[in-house]
Amino acid sequence: MRDNKLAIILPCYNEEEIINHSIEQLILLLNSMINDNLISKDSKIVFVDDGSKDKTKEIISNHCKNNNHIALIELSRNFGQQYAILAGLNSTDADMYVTMDSDLQDDCNMVIEMVKKYQQGYEIIYGCRKKRETDSFFKKTTAFLFYKFMNLININIRQNHSEFRLMSKTAVNMLKGYREKTIFLRGIVQNLGLKSTDVYYDGRERQAGKTKYSFFSLLELAWCAITSFSIFPLRLITFIGAMTSLLSGFVMIYAIVSYIKHYSIPGWTSMMITTAFFSGIIIMSLGIIGEYLGKVLIEVKDRPLYQIEKSTNL
Ligand code: UDP
Ligand code: MG
Repeated sequence: MRDNKLAIILPCYNEEEIINHSIEQLILLLNSMINDNLISKDSKIVFVDDGSKDKTKEIISNHCKNNNHIALIELSRNFGQQYAILAGLNSTDADMYVTMDSDLQDDCNMVIEMVKKYQQGYEIIYGCRKKRETDSFFKKTTAFLFYKFMNLININIRQNHSEFRLMSKTAVNMLKGYREKTIFLRGIVQNLGLKSTDVYYDGRERQAGKTKYSFFSLLELAWCAITSFSIFPLRLITFIGAMTSLLSGFVMIYAIVSYIKHYSIPGWTSMMITTAFFSGIIIMSLGIIGEYLGKVLIEVKDRPLYQIEKSTNL
């Protein structure tokens, strides 16, 4: 049996309406798993308060006084869910880590399945929603388009998986090697390449409180995902530049023929030729600069070049 100290990491931002309910459910879950010897007695539920302005922090710290399975990390201001999760992972010592939202929209009983899979030797277990029934039509459509676009540019993101997953200590240690500042956790975790599997559950509606993600913050997250994992938008400029240059060749020929055949008014030919020629050159040059910028981006991110999972007799 593998070492089994569990830490459940939950980012929370202004969750006073729901946090008590979540804490009660999680304590029940933790106790039942300890009783079944699935996890060790020193396992923890770690809340990361992401600069809440309401009573979230006070409610959690009251629970901390009565129950030492509950821990609280307080961030100095609102940094965003991705960074709150990272803060939790980096500050907690455990053998396996589950990250999930503090509104418990994900079925927390799946943690039991995840821990069992961990014991079967998996390093990362992704929680995936079976259907997106609880989402609005708009959210479903935008999510669908996002996954399609990501696939199109060769970034494989697990469908219907957000931040609900179990990671082993090995996986979290590898994750710590990623030193980039704009973080899209889902993408990076899939980049680690460890032995992984999925568990499926029914997503629920939020029981209380409101979503903290507006359309624009979701858009920001999607943009972060694209720009952290692909230089496709930059490469697109090079492509458009090359196409414009090709097209400008035809435009130039047309302009010269028009000039010879006296179809054009004076000045038109020279204007067309210079505009077409320089449009192509300018867009191409932007593309070439983009290519180098893309390289700089990759260098600056300083991602690990490889991940060694195990070595023997070294
Ligand atoms: N959250 C956070 N910081 C933020 C925004 C959200 O820690 O700036 C937390 C939030 O408290 C919740 C989780 O991230 O536990 C997911 O947020 P939410 O439920 O609002 O997103 P949705 O489920 O609607 O996508
Ligand atoms: Mg939610």
